[in-house]
Amino acid sequence: MTIPQPPICDYTNSDYQSSFWNCGKREYEDRVEAIALSRLLPTYGKILLEIGAGAGRNSTRYHGYERIFLLDYSVTQIKQAQQNIGNQDRFYYIVADAYRMPFLPGLFDAATMIRTLHHMVDVPLVLQQIRKVLKPGAIFILEYANKQNLKAILRFVFGQQKWNPFRKESVEFAQLNFNFHPSQIRDWLMENGFVTERQLTVSHFRLPILKRLLPVDLLVTLDAMVQYTGNYWQLSPSVFLRAKVVGNSIVCSSEQFFACPNCCSPNLNNVSDGLKCNNCQHLWLYKNGVYYFRDV
Ligand SMILES: [Zn+2]
Repeated sequence: MTIPQPPICDYTNSDYQSSFWNCGKREYEDRVEAIALSRLLPTYGKILLEIGAGAGRNSTRYHGYERIFLLDYSVTQIKQAQQNIGNQDRFYYIVADAYRMPFLPGLFDAATMIRTLHHMVDVPLVLQQIRKVLKPGAIFILEYANKQNLKAILRFVFGQQKWNPFRKESVEFAQLNFNFHPSQIRDWLMENGFVTERQLTVSHFRLPILKRLLPVDLLVTLDAMVQYTGNYWQLSPSVFLRAKVVGNSIVCSSEQFFACPNCCSPNLNNVSDGLKCNNCQHLWLYKNGVYYFRDV
């Protein structure tokens, strides 16, 4: 079966971590996201996959996991993550395309995807790929950008915005930047083998004027309180949810992790400069602690 290849938002050579996160103006967002993540993710686990890990902003928050696989499409983002975290044994750095997961089926007992889905054209396809590499009963923590947020609703009501925040279809507000409707996300999850267990609404106070006028500690405390309303309504710009895998999966039992992203073969041979697929003969490079499962 040939896997389709949707267009990809590539962060190669982006200074996203330093210009967006480290400049001091996103402390509020970073802290409330950390709270939501800690409320949803099981404390302990064997092996976790982070999809769209970027420069590793969240990666050191998975304290209770024995092995953590960081996946990003961008070579420079993964190298930044490696630099930030260091070569600890429990971290694996993977350059790959989330539409072509380079892992054995049923490998992971948890996965996270934070601030990544909003760049995905084909959400069902990426959910299928994630579902495939998760064990039965595994947990998936997903963050998505919510089109039905209060600001969008007000802009729509007062004629400042054409698209309707209550309609289910996604809106591409800039090239390869999508906002999604919560019920569409839940439907896609259900159609692809997940059940949504819990939702938290996040970043309610993401307004420059509030961030200027009020202390960040207060905004974080208030957001942490109202996150719990997320199970009942979702009107914040960001939503975190915990979904659980339903049904059976093929579960791998070996100590091997990878499968060929081209042909899905699990028969990869260790060679001097990487892993070579026995089936399609493709060589996947391993260099300076980074696995390259796409040609760069
Ligand atoms: Zn192959």
